Amino acid sequence: MKVARLQQIPDGDNETMIPVLSSKKASELPVDEVASILQANLQHGLKNCEVCHRRAFHGWNEFDISEDEPLWKKYISQFKNPLIMLLLASAVISVLMHQFDDAVSITVAIVIVVTVAFVQEYRSEKSLEELSKLVPPECHCVREGRVEHTLARDLVPGDTVCLSVGDRVPADLRLFEAVDLSIDESSLTGETAPCAKSTAPQPAATNGDLTSRSNIAFMGTLVRCGKAKGIVIGTGENSEFGEVFKMMQAEEAPKTPLQKSMDLLGKQLSLYSFGIIGIIMLVGWLQGKHILDMFTIGVSLAVAAIPEGLPIVVTVTLALGVMRMVKKRAIVKKLPIVETLGCCNVICSDKTGTLTKNEMTVTHIFTSDGQRAEVTGVGYNRFGEVILDGDVIHGYNNPSISKIVEAGCVCNDALIRNNTLMGKPTEGALIALAMKMGLDGLQEDYIRKAEYPFSSEQKWMAVKCVHRTQQDKPEVCFMKGAYEQVIRYCTSYSCKGQILPLIQQQREQYQQEKTSMGSAGLRVLALASGPELGQLTFLGLVGIIDPPRTGIKEAVTTLITSGVAIKMITGDSQETAVAIASRLGLYSKNSQAISGEEIDDLDIQQLSQITPKVAVFYRASPRHKLKIIKSLQNNGAVVAMTGDGVNDAVALKAADIGVAMGQTGTDVCKEAADMILVDDDFQTIMSAIEEGKGIYNNIKNFVRFQLSTSIAALTLISLATLMNFPNPLNAMQILWINIIMDGPPAQSI
Ligand code: ATP
Repeated sequence: MKVARLQQIPDGDNETMIPVLSSKKASELPVDEVASILQANLQHGLKNCEVCHRRAFHGWNEFDISEDEPLWKKYISQFKNPLIMLLLASAVISVLMHQFDDAVSITVAIVIVVTVAFVQEYRSEKSLEELSKLVPPECHCVREGRVEHTLARDLVPGDTVCLSVGDRVPADLRLFEAVDLSIDESSLTGETAPCAKSTAPQPAATNGDLTSRSNIAFMGTLVRCGKAKGIVIGTGENSEFGEVFKMMQAEEAPKTPLQKSMDLLGKQLSLYSFGIIGIIMLVGWLQGKHILDMFTIGVSLAVAAIPEGLPIVVTVTLALGVMRMVKKRAIVKKLPIVETLGCCNVICSDKTGTLTKNEMTVTHIFTSDGQRAEVTGVGYNRFGEVILDGDVIHGYNNPSISKIVEAGCVCNDALIRNNTLMGKPTEGALIALAMKMGLDGLQEDYIRKAEYPFSSEQKWMAVKCVHRTQQDKPEVCFMKGAYEQVIRYCTSYSCKGQILPLIQQQREQYQQEKTSMGSAGLRVLALASGPELGQLTFLGLVGIIDPPRTGIKEAVTTLITSGVAIKMITGDSQETAVAIASRLGLYSKNSQAISGEEIDDLDIQQLSQITPKVAVFYRASPRHKLKIIKSLQNNGAVVAMTGDGVNDAVALKAADIGVAMGQTGTDVCKEAADMILVDDDFQTIMSAIEEGKGIYNNIKNFVRFQLSTSIAALTLISLATLMNFPNPLNAMQILWINIIMDGPPAQSI
């Protein structure tokens, strides 16, 4: 176990000692004591000058354990190749036999061959190093009294860090606030079940191993549920993860299937080449040719024919391809994925934010008493109007509409400041609607007493509140969500200020309205309020537009024509999903759409029979994704699947190519994914697939080229020897041809 390393601040501006606490010690102490040892301010965080000061002393929160071998040593190690040794031997023999011109030519050739191999290997190492720096971890920490979004490497001991669902813990933290927190520590302890966490100190006798330190969040672990705050107790190599990291570094990355098959090909070719060269040397010797000549020709042929650079070239090609993909905004985390991309034939994509812009604007309002209003303006601002029968509606001058706006505003966690949205776009659209009506202060009128948060499984959100100025009055519930869900909680509807019992005729009218809004491609939200969740009054519907991203239609057409099927998976309703899918060209007359419920009713075999025809999975939630992937893979498809939430992680792991969203995605899903789309754009998947196919072809071309030069050299010398002709090429000529062939043409391929 790591022992706390006490370090002394250098003499000068500050004489204080800022120790690094071991997680064992920190878990035994009460939070206040930990804070006072680390001179931390739990609520306001550290001051920026203090952070700089501590960083100068503790360093960055990262690992730097690479002991770089000097370049000259790497260069010398290239000479350890047995073939090069043989060539060197033949150069020495040439010197001994006073054939100095041969010796010089062979030596120059050796230097060039070794240099080419060294440069290739160096490039490969450098590009792999670059890859590991592509996704720098980020976090939320409190500094100077404000929550800041910073890089995890900036953290210093004593910083206050906020954690929420889906986050990767950025340093070892002593928790001082934890609500419903459970953390997946499998990367550290191997324990797969998430671990519940709390803040209470742990007696020294019971916190011997990492799993029992329930008030510590360890660096590199993943928040599965809840939220928390903690003080940084250990960063970089002073964290518990430091040890694991060192072990991980020591472990060599597994080879990709392509690298493995190239290794095998290389070995087979070497074996055949050696066999043929052996025969050539034997026949030449039997024909009475000079033994040294035959030896040098044999060794040179071996150097020319054996594709010793093949595995390195494959790694360089893959790594360079990955760097090119980064320029196209796709970060590929694992090299094998480049090959898989080349043969991907089904893409399952989320709708919101990937195919559409996730810029939501309310355009239609339908009140429970049958009024239809239109809303103008776009974006998260107050520019726009609500128009009913040609009249502009403002403030409370239409109670049916203002009630909808009130419910949408109070049952909401988003904020719009300076035309910038903080929160979910669907909720931002409702705040913007309130701003257009001059009702945006409504949120502050209520004090929230309880909350039922939105989830993709549940598809609704509700809050229980009291009015700020009438706190003696009973609590009110506000609910918003998918129409089918909200209506289940309603017993009445609002009609011109009156509350009337909800009858079948009303339900049918609302259902029709919801279908017609959905068929126009709008996302539909139903709103309700009332004293209790089961006794709500239905208030009406809002239709929200989320325009398709530009260029998606073209990308979809290109992919479909090149044989890649595209399936949309969305939590939205059938009408909305089908309308958007048709607009994007991924749903046609022969396509099918099935719902999450239908997926539940089918087993994998049954689902496999219909998935080839299904283009849209609607009212689906993350748990359906796994079943969809399995059913497609059952049919032999190579599947790419997109995801952003914590619940998508399993599906991303199961897919052949798990694709996480760079902007909206949680750390958990980025961790599980093979590829990250920096700007969440579907078109990037297309570029990555194109790039993958290109790389695959490049490698194929390189192998063909290498083989053709090797076979040509071997055949020429074999035939000449068999026919007892004088050797058409001497050793130096073979080596020079090899250098030229391994040089510009092969490198460019
Ligand atoms: P995807 O990104 O996979 O396409 P989605 O955005 O289409 O997902 P969800 O976010 O799960 O799907 O939304 C499903 C339904 O839940 C929506 O059609 C809407 O009716 C409702 N909904 C969405 N966001 C909220 C919210 N913040 N509060 C209440 N209801 C919501």
